[in-house]
Formats: sequence, C-alpha cells, structure tokens
Amino acid sequence: EAIEREIEEILGLRERREKDSELYKIANEVFDRTTKETLAYLHRRGKIEELYGVVSTGKEANVFAGVDAEGNKIAVKIYRTYTTEFRRIWEYLAADPRIGYLPKDMRKLVFVWTRREFKNLQRAIKYAVRVPEPVIFRNNVLVMEFIGDETPAPRLKDVEKSLERSDFEELYSYLMSVIERLWKRGDMVHGDLSEYNVLLWDGPVVIDWSQATVRRNRMSVELLKRDLRNVTNYFARKGVDVEDYEVKLRELIER
Ligand code: ATP
Ligand code: MN
Repeated sequence: EAIEREIEEILGLRERREKDSELYKIANEVFDRTTKETLAYLHRRGKIEELYGVVSTGKEANVFAGVDAEGNKIAVKIYRTYTTEFRRIWEYLAADPRIGYLPKDMRKLVFVWTRREFKNLQRAIKYAVRVPEPVIFRNNVLVMEFIGDETPAPRLKDVEKSLERSDFEELYSYLMSVIERLWKRGDMVHGDLSEYNVLLWDGPVVIDWSQATVRRNRMSVELLKRDLRNVTNYFARKGVDVEDYEVKLRELIER
C-alpha cells in the first residue's frame, strides 16, 4: 500500500536499514494510522526526508532524529495518540485560556497539545530564550531544529559530573533570568524547567515546552513556583549560593 511504502522510505528501509533495527521496532510500535498519514504528508512537503534514529522514548511522545529535503537536521517529536496521560493533558489544556475548544476525543486532544507546544516554542523565542527553532506541526507531529550534531546534545543532567562550580553558577543565573524574562516580559511560564529539560550545546537550550502556559492561566503561579523551586534546589545541591525561591516568587507575582 502507498502509505506503507512511504513510511518505509521515510525510515530508510528501502536502502539499508534492516527490519529489526531499533528504529523500525519503535516506529512499528508507535506509528498508528494517523501518524503514518501525517508523516507521509510532511514527507511530500519536504519537511521530513528521512528519520534515521530514535532519540528518546517517553510516555507521551517519542523523539526522532532526521533530515528534511534540504538536508537540514531535524528533531521530530511524535506524540502518542493513545496515552495514559490523557487526564493530565486534559487538565492542563482546560486551564489554558488560549485554548478555546477542548475536543472530547483523545486523538484530537493530543493534536491540540502538539499545537500548543509549537506555539510555546515560537513565543519563547520572542523573549530571547534559546530553544529548538520550531519548523512545522501537524496533528501529533512536531518538527523542530535538531540540537546536536551526530548525536543529540547532552542534557544538563548527563554532564553535571564534568561541570565546575563556576559553570553551575552561570547556568543558575541564566535559568533564573529565563524564568524572570518569560514571566515579566512574555507573560509565560515553562512549567517543567529542570536539569532534564536543558540541553547544553554551546550554551543552554531549553526544551520540552509542552506544559508551558501563559500567566493568565489559573495554574501559572503554581507552575512558576515549581520552576523556581526545581531550579533553586538543583543548583543549591551543586554548591551554588542560591536565592530563596519563595522570596523570588513573591517578587515576581507582586508586580
Ligand atoms: P520526557 O518525558 O523524557 O521529559 P518528553 O516526552 O517530555 O520526554 P522532550 O523532553 O521534549 O520530550 O524530549 C525528550 C528528549 O529528546 C530530550 O531529553 C532530549 O534528549 C531529546 N530532544 C528533544 N528535543 C530535541 C531537539 N530539538 N534536539 C535534540 N534532541 C532533542
Ligand atoms: Mn523532557
């Protein structure tokens, strides 16, 4: 069938990759009908020429490494259309004033979730936060700039053993300035900022914007507090002389 052939082409199965590769296994397990059609569409538009590796497999999404038709490296985040996280996704979206209509159908809800992450990336860039450049989204598939070269850039968590106090100090003040800038100038909060969602690639790059939201969201202060607490506690453990996050929180919300 046409779609199946196109998927094999995207996965490079026609030329070299054997059907028992990790890539093939993961793809086989998570690419349902909608996902295949979406990938085929993006393939025809030249946005995804090939997917050649699995970067991460998670509960909600899988991230693949690939190239577009012009040879640019891309990261492709593909949300599962069936997820056990349905409830959490629903709650987060329901609290976001930017989301007008909430679909009842889980698949469509995941599309809304994907679109929101794309919009969040665009919005964060405006406030001078370094993030993977968003390229395009469709349904449950988000295409963005690949951070790294042959392999993805390491997460802060992966390289913490090789960092020195001064590196931690710099990262701490950068991440606190990101939280503050997003909140004050961008009316926005990341909501899951941690050593797992910061890649180090010639400086810090903040990823995973799926739970980010706007200040008008009734959960925003709670999310802001979570970011401040996570960042502060992490860097305190690394020996940085940190500010009290509750004081910082009050400073940010009382103006
Ligand atoms: P988790 O549940 O593990 O946090 P997630 O489903 O929330 O994962 P992300 O955090 O966005 O998804 O991405 C998972 C992993 O994929 C990241 O930790 C990172 O290693 C890699 N990754 C994500 N985006 C990119 C990118 N643009 N370039 C390179 N690697 C990326
Ligand atoms: Mn993550």
